[in-house]
Amino acid sequence: MSMTLALQRSVQATPDRIATVFHGRHQTFSEYGDRVARLAGALQSIGMKAGDRVGMLGVNSDRWLECLMGVWWGGGVLNPVNTRWSVPEIVYSLDDSDTGILVVDDHFLNRVEGIRATAKRMPILVYAGDWPTPEGMLSVEELIAAARPVEDANRAGADLACILYTGGTTGFPKGVMHSHWTLWSIGIQRLAQTPMPGESVALHVAPLFHMGGIGRALVQFIAGDTHVLAPAFDAREVMAIVERERVTDLLLVPTMLQALITHPEFDCFDLSSLKRMVYGASPIAESVLERAMEALPGVAFTHSYGMTECGGVTSNPPENHGPEGRASGLSRSAGRAGFGIAVKVVDDSGNEVPRGEVGEIIARGPNVMLGYWNKPEETARALRDGWLHTGDGARMDEGGHVFIVDRMKDMIVSGGENVYSAEVESVIARHPAVQACAVIAVPHAQWGEAVHAVVVRKPGAQLDDAVLLDHCKGFIAGYKCPKSIEFREALPLSAAGKVLKRELRERHWTGHSRQVS
Ligand code: ATP
Ligand code: MG
Repeated sequence: MSMTLALQRSVQATPDRIATVFHGRHQTFSEYGDRVARLAGALQSIGMKAGDRVGMLGVNSDRWLECLMGVWWGGGVLNPVNTRWSVPEIVYSLDDSDTGILVVDDHFLNRVEGIRATAKRMPILVYAGDWPTPEGMLSVEELIAAARPVEDANRAGADLACILYTGGTTGFPKGVMHSHWTLWSIGIQRLAQTPMPGESVALHVAPLFHMGGIGRALVQFIAGDTHVLAPAFDAREVMAIVERERVTDLLLVPTMLQALITHPEFDCFDLSSLKRMVYGASPIAESVLERAMEALPGVAFTHSYGMTECGGVTSNPPENHGPEGRASGLSRSAGRAGFGIAVKVVDDSGNEVPRGEVGEIIARGPNVMLGYWNKPEETARALRDGWLHTGDGARMDEGGHVFIVDRMKDMIVSGGENVYSAEVESVIARHPAVQACAVIAVPHAQWGEAVHAVVVRKPGAQLDDAVLLDHCKGFIAGYKCPKSIEFREALPLSAAGKVLKRELRERHWTGHSRQVS
């Protein structure tokens, strides 16, 4: 059972439907299928064998999606490279995963020299772009033109399909191993959660090298629907593409959603084609969600909670985002366990905590990873008795709705009281002069840890410590309010748009014992 079956079905059933759209270049499933089958033949002709790793270093594009399916069609394993990585990080991942072929697009040719100079096993370099082929590289276009389409290798469900690196928010990224079966489960589970009428047009703007982006692409493949690709997030460009391509489905992380709805030209675009919006990947401030729902009244909002290790865990459907859900507080929930997924909230010993109390969320289901590549100890820590330990703190209500409170590593223990950074951030974000913020633990002689806020003001806005503190006191108990506030121009963000709190913490914790990662 291979993910490629989804493509076989589309080529047979809807050959003329548009498969990919990139910068105005449209390609049908029949054309896409042909290029995929040729690319698979080409990759085999340069040495790819069943189970071999092939890296893709490029921005979201139709070529990226050809590479994804081409590798699977030919029997290989995809290693999507994080485009924000430096050369040493790229080389680490290539060496770590023993990647034999690396496909590089125009944007990353400047990394090639560094990779050549330092990789232990130099991969065969394939250029996927429209310019003349750089020296020492093979051209994907020439390879495709010269290759004959091959039959689908049709890998088994249990076979490794990709090594997907985690976001690197809390530490060095780990290579998550997913099989065709686990990926299929991730796609089917999301599709069942957010049913689409069958002619959806999804815009992939979250990077495809992360689970958020690739997971959304899997849904589109299974549904046999159209993929529109944006090379990078630019709020104006996203709106222009939605208008031009009549996009129906968008998946955005909260920072992207906020940038979109607060863009000065938001009202200048026709976004009426938009039907569904999935948000998640990091906590969302209540004010941002409310504003987004107001700004996009015809759009069904779904909250998704998940991770690289398993795709989705829980999902909060549009029904809970209406007036009733808002009144009952269910709109703040990450929803119930996805179909086929079991979820528990447990204490340190693995026992379920009473409903309403905070513990670690653990999950099991057909979507859970095989393990971390080359990391048996981390795998043993994350996968215990078949349960995936997420490292996220949550509470569950009597109805099985999960409320994510914080990453366990981001919780602040101040004078014996737990403070959830996400809750404090949500309060700070309500202040109209605040653009962005992050709340972290800093060492404190008396309380062990103290609440510290790092705040970015809106351009031109006035705001000082005293005013912000007063604002916080109006919403939360004194021990949760920041003991110190620092104003900055910007927050350090990961490629997925998440705040890198370990970087913010680092300066405060040198010489102290807390593990800042
Ligand atoms: P690393 O594991 O390398 O530190 P990461 O955890 O950010 O990075 P991902 O797998 O991309 O890598 O992200 C999953 C994490 O993102 C979850 O464990 C959780 O902490 C956070 N997250 C995901 N969805 C949500 C959500 N809806 N609300 C709050 N947090 C979320
Ligand atoms: Mg993680």
